[in-house]
Amino acid sequence: MNVMWKTFPKGGLEPRQMKSRIKDRAVWNASIPALCIVPLLQHRGEPATCLVRPRETVREGMLIGRADSPDSCHVHSPVPGTVKYVEEITLPWGDKTPAVFIELGGEFNRLGKAVYTHPWEGIRADRLLSMLADRGVVGMGSGIPAHRKLEIPEGRTVRTLIINGVECEPYLCADYRIMVEKAEELIEGARIAAAITRPGRSVIALAGDKTEARDALRKKIKELKADIEIRALRPKYPLGDERQLIKALAGEEFSLGGTALDAGAVVLNVGTALAVYEAVVLQKPLVEKTITVAGRALREQANLKVRIGTPLADLVEECGGFVRMPAKIVVGGPMMGWGVCDLSAPITKTTSGVLFLSPKEIRDSRKTNCLNCGRCLRSCPMGLQPSALYKWVEHSAYEEAREEGLLDCSECGCCAYACPARLPLTRGIRAGKMVLRGGAGL
Ligand code: SF4
Ligand code: SF4
Repeated sequence: MNVMWKTFPKGGLEPRQMKSRIKDRAVWNASIPALCIVPLLQHRGEPATCLVRPRETVREGMLIGRADSPDSCHVHSPVPGTVKYVEEITLPWGDKTPAVFIELGGEFNRLGKAVYTHPWEGIRADRLLSMLADRGVVGMGSGIPAHRKLEIPEGRTVRTLIINGVECEPYLCADYRIMVEKAEELIEGARIAAAITRPGRSVIALAGDKTEARDALRKKIKELKADIEIRALRPKYPLGDERQLIKALAGEEFSLGGTALDAGAVVLNVGTALAVYEAVVLQKPLVEKTITVAGRALREQANLKVRIGTPLADLVEECGGFVRMPAKIVVGGPMMGWGVCDLSAPITKTTSGVLFLSPKEIRDSRKTNCLNCGRCLRSCPMGLQPSALYKWVEHSAYEEAREEGLLDCSECGCCAYACPARLPLTRGIRAGKMVLRGGAGL
């Protein structure tokens, strides 16, 4: 490994990456599901207001959920069809939301039709932001509506626009495939984001070992004469967390409770930059995305372009079914993802992948007493004391936990991964955060 690659300074891990069987698989278009389940909450903030009723006909890309509060985001129909019903569902992370169930039928407006591009240079920043809001683009890592993320308040300046291609979770390769296969569109998306935010410099950050992606991006940057740097970093986990990425790239520190903008940065992940391109240049609402579907319970592992609202069961079918029953199903990566047991759970705008893990791919979860080994402490990139936070939460001493930085936990999962006693540290800490934010907790 090239020792010159920089990374963030404190804590972190190097979990087995598990990408070698998936990363070279080109993205293919998944079959369109017969029934799409489209949650009206796929972003931070309030659910969008439902604009459709049962038995109503919808078109591909039609607005079906309207953002009625500043932090909400529009939702569009991913397919043409008929609304069967609107019903409350529970998302993998526990939020409840109304969802529109759409039965496929009728003609597609875009699929299989000629693609037109629309010039954007010279369009004012506020107009570009409106286009992102109109087309429902959200940060695909954070769920923050992209027009909110890219709107820079007066008096603030952006020193660095970072396109985050680090993708440090094991298994996940969708961003890598976008960098290899859609380098031009990604760079154009980054240029649009730069036209809005006017940064001092624009950087695409990626893991140093992703040479094919680096070469594809370099070639396109040169061809397009784009003012964008590529920075290869040491792929320590959780480098993809924007706080760690900013520390690694710019040496900037976060004040506790601070935002990326406080550190002079705006961070968009690769999937978001591609969605920015599609929203502005193709005038396309966010109705599909690229995800990784992996795990050895599946016959085939794949990088797929899927419609938002596709149920997990359809992905299993797309991948040839199960060769063995999964011991665990995870939406997201294995470090930060959410366990689910319902194959009707839908893909949302923030889903990065789905894992169907065989018994051999999961760790023994039998816990023992704390060994006071300090591994959790050494692995924590936020400099917290995970074992102490966990104990406080276990004893409902939430205020003590708050004072020790509970709310600064990024839920990266390093402490739980490092713990030889298999204590569910991250799960406990996450539950404590929910209590402090007014949720149910453990
Ligand atoms: S989950 Fe929280 S406490 Fe545990 S290592 Fe990550 S930031 Fe630290
Ligand atoms: S890593 Fe686990 S066993 Fe070691 S100190 Fe932390 S909580 Fe205790």
